[in-house]
Amino acid sequence: MKLIDGKNIAIQIKEEIAAEIRSLQDIQDINVRRPHLAAILVGNNPASETYVANKEKACAEVGMSSSVYKMSEDVSEKELLENIDFINHDEEIDGLIVQLPLPEHISVNKIIASINPKKDVDGFHPVNVGRMVLGQPAYISATPLGISLLLERSGIPTAGKHCVIVGRSNIVGTPMSILLSRNAKNANCTVTLCHSKTKNLSEICRTADILIAAIGKCEMITAQYVKKGVTVIDVGMHRVEDNTKKSGFRLKGDVLFEEVSPLCEYITPVPGGVGPMTIIGLIINTLKAYKQEIYK
Ligand code: NDP
Repeated sequence: MKLIDGKNIAIQIKEEIAAEIRSLQDIQDINVRRPHLAAILVGNNPASETYVANKEKACAEVGMSSSVYKMSEDVSEKELLENIDFINHDEEIDGLIVQLPLPEHISVNKIIASINPKKDVDGFHPVNVGRMVLGQPAYISATPLGISLLLERSGIPTAGKHCVIVGRSNIVGTPMSILLSRNAKNANCTVTLCHSKTKNLSEICRTADILIAAIGKCEMITAQYVKKGVTVIDVGMHRVEDNTKKSGFRLKGDVLFEEVSPLCEYITPVPGGVGPMTIIGLIINTLKAYKQEIYK
C-alpha cells in the first residue's frame, strides 16, 4: 500500500505557483498588483471559518493577496447579492468564492448564479459547469481539479480504468465523473456514478480500479467495498470528538482507513489527502483568472 501524500504534493505545487507569481511580478512593473482572491463568509460555522482561514494562508504562501468579507448569519439575501455585485465590479479582485454552506434563508443557486463567471474560481457557476461538460475552457470545481492533480502527480494511470464514484453532488461527484470520463490527459476512465438509490453498492464498488468516496458518511466504505489493488480517494471530511487533541476533534474520512488501506495499491489519508489539494485547485483557478486564461 502506498499513501497518496496530498499534503506534500500541495506543497510542491504551491512552490511552483509561487515561482510563477514571482516571475510574473519580475517581468511586469514591480508595482503591478498580485493575483487577488476574495472570500465571503456568512455566519460562524467553525469548519467554514477554518476552510477560509486555510485559503487565506495558502494565498499568502504563494504570494497572492486575499480578503475575507464576513457577514452575519442573519444577513439578507439582498445584502449578500449587493456585496457580490460590488466584488464582481472590483477590478482589483480576480477570484470570488462564497463559502458554503449558507444559512437556509439564502438560495445557494441564486448566490452562485450572481457571481461573475469570470471570477467564479470555485467553478460552481452554471456557465463554468456547462463549459466544463462541453470540454471548453472553464474553471473546474476545486475538489475534482485537486483529485485529478493528485492522480497525475502520483503517476496513477487512468485511461481504460473503471472508476466508481460514490456521491453525485454538484461540487464533487458529478463534476468528477465528467472530468474522468473525458477524452483527455489524465482521464479516459469508464465511470460509474453511484448515489443513495444505487442498488448493490458494495458489489459495484468492488469492480472499481479507482474508487472515489464523496458521500459525507463517516467511514462508510469498509473492506467489503473494495477489491485488492484498488486506488482509493477519500474525499470525506468529518470532525470526530477527540479530547486528546488541542482542537478537541480529529478528522476522519468516508473510508474506514484501517480496514481498507491494506487492500489498496494507493490510498489518500484523511487528513492530508484531498483537503490540501482542494485549496490548490482554488489557487490554480485564481492564477488563471489573474492571467485571464479562461475568458480571453
Ligand atoms: P453531499 O452531501 O452534497 O452529497 C453526498 C452524496 O453522497 C449524494 O449524492 C448522496 O446521494 C450520496 N450518498 C449519501 N449517502 C449514501 C449512501 N448511503 N450510499 C450511497 N450514496 C450516498 O456531499 P459533498 O459532495 O458536498 O461532500 C461529500 C463529503 O466530502 C463530505 O464529507 C464533505 O465534507 C467532503 N468534502 C471534502 C472536501 C475536501 O476538500 N476534502 C471538499 C468538499 C466536500 P443522493 O444524491 O442520492 O442524496
